[in-house]
Amino acid sequence: MNSRTDEISESVKRILETIPPEVTLVAAAKTRTLEEVEAAIQAGVTHIGYNYIQEALPIIQTIGDRVTWHMIGHLQRNKAKTAVQHFDMIETVDSWRLAETLERHCANINKTVSVLVEINSGRESNKTGVLPDDVDELIHKISTLEHLHVKGLMTMGPRFGNPKDSRPYFQATRAAFERLSSLNLPRVTMQFLSMGMSNTYRIAIEEGANIVRIGTKLFGKRNNP
Ligand SMILES: *Cc1c(COP(=O)(O)O)cnc(C)c1O
Repeated sequence: MNSRTDEISESVKRILETIPPEVTLVAAAKTRTLEEVEAAIQAGVTHIGYNYIQEALPIIQTIGDRVTWHMIGHLQRNKAKTAVQHFDMIETVDSWRLAETLERHCANINKTVSVLVEINSGRESNKTGVLPDDVDELIHKISTLEHLHVKGLMTMGPRFGNPKDSRPYFQATRAAFERLSSLNLPRVTMQFLSMGMSNTYRIAIEEGANIVRIGTKLFGKRNNP
């Protein structure tokens, strides 16, 4: 132990105490070292999120299945094969082409993967995620794929100075979540709503999030975003 890992340990414990027990904490681990990630696990983190496959692989291979691995960054189709091999949940499915590619790779290795559909709740042209108007159609189509199990929705929401400004985007995502649950589609279980980061997780939980993805508040400031 050193002071860095002590700080991480304290932050993890503090966050785990403040979030309700039914909310899953995903530690957003981009740019963090193996030692930092291990410190978070020691302190009670059981779910880890990565944005980039290349960065995640050596860590996943070292740590293994002691924790649950979430893909939380935009997934390129040429990385889909590696993603289904190594991740337990892919939170960022946002197109039919990506879903089809994931299905093909899952079928090849006879694995079913849990996915969340990412919604571009802020309707921002430069952001990933399916537009709110197109989410029903996409989920209907994905429900025909045998190896993908849709478990809910994920959103980033626009990044604001004031965390409160994200509330309407969380509410809109929650509304889509409720509507889609009532459709009872095959292989679609609206179980997880992944919204909220370091500065917005409290608001996201108030609006129904049961997965929060937190980096800065656990590990400290990142040098590069
Ligand atoms: C980095 C990241 C987070 C965590 O952001 P912080 O502000 O550091 O808590 C959450 N979700 C995604 C998709 C991220 O890339």
